[in-house]
Amino acid sequence: MYLNKTRALNILFVGTLLVLLYISSLYNYLLFHSLVEIFSICIAFSIFLITWNSKEFIKNNLLLIIGISYLFIGMLDLLHTLSYKGMNIFTDYDYYANQLWIATRFLESITMLSSFAFLKHKKILNAYILFTIYLIVSSVIVASIFYWKIFPICFIDGVGLTQFKIVSEYIISFILLFALILSWYYRNYFDNLIYKYIASSIIFTILSELAFTFYISNYGFSNMIGHYLKLFSFYFIYKAIIEKAIKEPFKSIFNELHNQVNKDALTGLFNHGYLYEKLIEEIKISSQTNKPFSIIMLDVDHFKRINDVYGHVKGDDTLLRISNVIKKTTRTTDIAGRYGGEEFMVILPNTNIKNCYIVAEKIRNEVKRNDFCDDGTIITISAGIAEFNHLLKDGELSSITALTQNFVNIADSNLYKAKSGGRDMTFGLETLTTLTELGT
Ligand code: GH3
Ligand code: MG
Ligand code: MG
Repeated sequence: MYLNKTRALNILFVGTLLVLLYISSLYNYLLFHSLVEIFSICIAFSIFLITWNSKEFIKNNLLLIIGISYLFIGMLDLLHTLSYKGMNIFTDYDYYANQLWIATRFLESITMLSSFAFLKHKKILNAYILFTIYLIVSSVIVASIFYWKIFPICFIDGVGLTQFKIVSEYIISFILLFALILSWYYRNYFDNLIYKYIASSIIFTILSELAFTFYISNYGFSNMIGHYLKLFSFYFIYKAIIEKAIKEPFKSIFNELHNQVNKDALTGLFNHGYLYEKLIEEIKISSQTNKPFSIIMLDVDHFKRINDVYGHVKGDDTLLRISNVIKKTTRTTDIAGRYGGEEFMVILPNTNIKNCYIVAEKIRNEVKRNDFCDDGTIITISAGIAEFNHLLKDGELSSITALTQNFVNIADSNLYKAKSGGRDMTFGLETLTTLTELGT
C-alpha cells in the first residue's frame, strides 16, 4: 500500500515535470533546453556526490567508475548548455555546443563499456586515481574544443549535421549496444534491481543518440525527444547509485546491529533467545524435509570450583576459551550458543544422533586437552544429546514452542544422566527418547 503510494507520487511528479518542460519548449526552445540540461546536470552532480561520499561502501568497480565519471560528464554538459545556440556567451565560435555534446557522449559511452572490464576485478579501484584520470581526459577535451580548436565540426547552422557527427552518434550507439550486451552477460554480478537500472540507462542513452542523428535544427522536435531520453538515462544511473551507495550500506548496518542483538556479550556465541528461534526454524525444516537434526547440551563440570579457586575473572576467561573450542570444533552451518551460565548448546542441522555424538565427543576431548588455568588443571564437560526425527502434525504447529521445549528437555535429561553417571561423558546415543514419551 505504502509502496504503491510512493510509486504513484513518483509518476505524478515525473509526469508533471515532463509536461512543464514541454510547455516551456512551446514558449522558448532555449528555455526548454536549458532546463532539461540543468536537470540532468543536477542529477549528474548528485550521482558524483553520493558516490564520492560513500566510496568506502561501494564494493562494485562499475558503479564507482560511473559515479566518478558523472562529475566530469555533468561539467562538460554544463559547458554544452552555456555554449548552446542563443546563449550568446561564447560569441567567437558557433560549433562549441555540438562538439561538447559529442565529446561528452563518447566519454559517457566509453566509461560505460570500460567499466565492465573492471567488474570482475577483485580489488576495488582507487577513487583518487580515477578522479585524476577523468580530470585529465576532460581537460584535454575542453582544450581541444576551446583552445586548440582541433575537434571536428559537428553541426553547421543552416546546413545540418556533419558526416563526422552522424558517424559518431552511430559509433556511440554501437559502443552502448556492446555495453548493453555486456550488462546482460554480467547480470549475475548485480542484484536484479541494479541490473535493470543500468540496462535501462544504457537503452535510453542509445535511443537518445539515435534521436540526435535525425535533427536538422538545434531547436527541432527530434532534438527535444533526444534531450528527454537523456534525462531518463541519467535518472536510472542515479537510481542505481542510490540503491547501492545508500540503501545497501544501511541494510548491512541494520544486519550488523541485528547480529549484535543475537550474540552473547561474554563469549560472542549466539544467545539463548536466538537458539530458540533457530530451534523452531530447524524443527519446521526437519519436519518438511523429513531429515533429522540434532542438538548437544553441554555443561562444564564442577565449574563452581574454578570460580572458587581462581576467582570470577578467571572463570569468565575460561568460559570464553571453552566457547572458542566449541566454535573451532563445529561446522559453520552448526549454530553454537551460550544457553546460560556455563551451559552451551549446539544445533546441528541435517545431522543424525550418531554424527551428533561424534561432534559432542570431539568437543569434550578438545576441551579436556586444553590447559585453561595454565597450571595443569583439567577441565571437563558433560554432554547430553538428542535427535529430532518427528513429523509435525497439523495441530502441532500452534504449540511449537511447547514442542521445542520438550525436545530441549530430552537433551537436558541426557545431560543430567551424564552428570549422575560420573561426568566427563556424552549421554544420549543409545537412548533415542521420542517426543511422545515426553508427553507431547
Ligand atoms: P556440575 O555442573 O558438574 O554439577 O558442577 P558445577 O559447579 O558446574 O555446578 P553448577 O551448575 O551448580 O554451577 C555452575 C556455576 O557456574 C555457578 C556459577 O558460579 C558459575 N557461573 C555461571 N555463569 C558464570 C559466568 O558467567 N561467569 C563465571 N565466572 N561463572 C559462572
Ligand atoms: Mg556445571
Ligand atoms: Mg550448570
